[in-house]
Amino acid sequence: MTTLDVIEPATERVLDTLELTDVAELDAVVARAATAQKLWAAESPQYRGQALLAVAAAIESNAERLARLESRNVGMPIAEARGAVAGAAATFRYYAAAPERLLGHTIPVDGGVDMTFREPIGVVGLITPWNYPLTIASWKVAPGLAAGNAIVLKPAELTPLTARELAAIATAAGLPEGLLTVLVGPGRTIGRAMVEHPGIGKIAFTGSTDVGKDIARRAAGTLKRVTLELGGKSAALVFADADLDAAASGLTGAVFGNSGQDCCARSRVFVERPALEGFLERLEKVVGGIVVGDPLDENTQMGPLVSAGQAARVRAHVDGAPVLFRGSAPEGPGYWMPPTVLHPIDDAHPAAREEIFGPVVSVFAFDTEAEAVVRANDTVYGLAGSIWTSDAARSLRVARAVDAGALAVNSYTSVRVTTPFGGFKQSGLGRELGPDALDAYTEVKNVFFSTTG
Ligand code: NAD
Repeated sequence: MTTLDVIEPATERVLDTLELTDVAELDAVVARAATAQKLWAAESPQYRGQALLAVAAAIESNAERLARLESRNVGMPIAEARGAVAGAAATFRYYAAAPERLLGHTIPVDGGVDMTFREPIGVVGLITPWNYPLTIASWKVAPGLAAGNAIVLKPAELTPLTARELAAIATAAGLPEGLLTVLVGPGRTIGRAMVEHPGIGKIAFTGSTDVGKDIARRAAGTLKRVTLELGGKSAALVFADADLDAAASGLTGAVFGNSGQDCCARSRVFVERPALEGFLERLEKVVGGIVVGDPLDENTQMGPLVSAGQAARVRAHVDGAPVLFRGSAPEGPGYWMPPTVLHPIDDAHPAAREEIFGPVVSVFAFDTEAEAVVRANDTVYGLAGSIWTSDAARSLRVARAVDAGALAVNSYTSVRVTTPFGGFKQSGLGRELGPDALDAYTEVKNVFFSTTG
């Protein structure tokens, strides 16, 4: 097979057919990237900042086209896709300031001056998933370039279209040739070859925990740097003194957004027992009101799942699980699945423990704060979480006690361009976004300068 059919999940029709990258091309791609990287790193910080601003502007002037492409390829509602494109532009804008702010230290030493520099790693390989293709690519491409690296990006084979567009738009906006190359193909061939390639100094990966572990093992062969953003089974803790309307209605985005194909999905909701009934009543109304349908329709809140395979996996999780209620979904064609609430469900049930990556939430009751924290932490994952309460002291106490990288109080927000994002435990390694991401794309160099003549 030398071509790849890209499918539109809402219609099951072929959206585009792309040429697969031949693994044998990788050596040449990496060599070209290495040459481009040396020239790029030698440019002034101002030049690199301006180049990233030009990419941001180019994304904005292509925004509607990119949003429609993302919406059709992922099945993401168009309103959400527009937000994703705006977020990608904002990410480039934010990191455009970074080349001039890659600060080092001076350190008091005997006999001279000691200083540190943040040097680029060289050629960085990015491997990204299918759920937020443009968003997650921009989280890696923008800081990677800002730090002076060249990028070789392999998007998920289900959703490669906006990553390719990003490279084309960026190059047209003046980004030097060879600095951002997109490869098309499966993870087990081209992705693995990237992980093992001696000319690539780092892999920044977002995807499943199993593949993340495989990458960590293989990257060890060349001691590549790795950043891993992996799966989650995040908890929301809803106390009886919380704003139950907001806690329930927010789940439209927090667990059903992008059809639940969101690593930060609050797929376990623990509700303090006196509030359980009131919470479930509200949630039933919320779920019944979610508009599921054509992603390009302005009113749609939830589209299809990304693929037949993903739909089969999600259905297998729900089969035999205790469904309390579910919303509606179109029949087909398309990979549809209604928003679904599981309750009552045991903490040990596979649907309550494994990452489903679909529009499914498990609701549990709890009696004490300490018990809620223990149960929320009883998972191999540690990506995100929410605490809903009107007691400020409790909110901070619980936020500090939950083992996760991205916590929100009275909110389901997980991600901002300006703040660090990443997982505890098996949800990942390293941080993206904010200033922390720059650490992940640089090496610290220490230089001692003798003043003793
Ligand atoms: P996946 O792990 O199957 O694939 C991710 C990428 O890795 C794809 O580009 C794929 O082609 C590539 N790949 C697959 N096998 C590989 C291998 N052996 N070597 C190198 N590359 C390989 O994940 P997915 O199904 O695309 O995405 C869903 C997963 O991503 C979920 O588990 C989700 O939680 C996770 N995710 C995490 C975050 C985060 O920031 N923590 C964000 C989005 C998605």
